[in-house]
Amino acid sequence: MNGIYLLLGTNLGNRERNLQIAKEHLTAHQLVIKKESKVYETAAWGIEDQPNFLNQVIEVDTSKNPERILIIIQIIEESMGRIRNEKWAQRLIDIDILYYNDLIVDEPRLKIPHPEIPNRRFTLMPLVEIAADQVHPVSGKTQSALLNDCADQLEAKAVNTDQY
Ligand code: ADP
Ligand code: MG
Repeated sequence: MNGIYLLLGTNLGNRERNLQIAKEHLTAHQLVIKKESKVYETAAWGIEDQPNFLNQVIEVDTSKNPERILIIIQIIEESMGRIRNEKWAQRLIDIDILYYNDLIVDEPRLKIPHPEIPNRRFTLMPLVEIAADQVHPVSGKTQSALLNDCADQLEAKAVNTDQY
């Protein structure tokens, strides 16, 4: 991988606006957005009976290290009012670090590449859109190959954001 990729997710409130606000916060923290995928809509994962998720992958440019980025995204999640208790619970915004170039981190608080990438169509669809030929530093597979091999049955559909 050549680039730092983040996944944004939201399924509460004005979801499109939550994505916008999260990107404004990231920019204010000197994470420069270089590329954005379309916004994808997916049924809630893990827990049914919740509003659908919107997800978007962005590529950012920054000199900050991954630990620093994790702190920033947690500050943003909290300032946007996320209630942090139940896993997979409803949330205003969730920000995950997907890739940090070819770096591999395996710590309890931080795992890069994000371990769920190969299992989630809602992550791979936007990744393929903006980074199809980039190679996962552990498996050696491109994002396209990962999507081809992905068993996730939950459809992720690009949405027309002009409607918001
Ligand atoms: P999830 O993203 O799995 O739905 P959370 O956002 O609450 O749930 O994340 C739980 C924990 O995952 C965070 O406290 C963070 O320390 C840890 N984590 C590990 N790797 C990553 C990563 N690559 N990006 C973001 N958080 C991560
Ligand atoms: Mg998260």
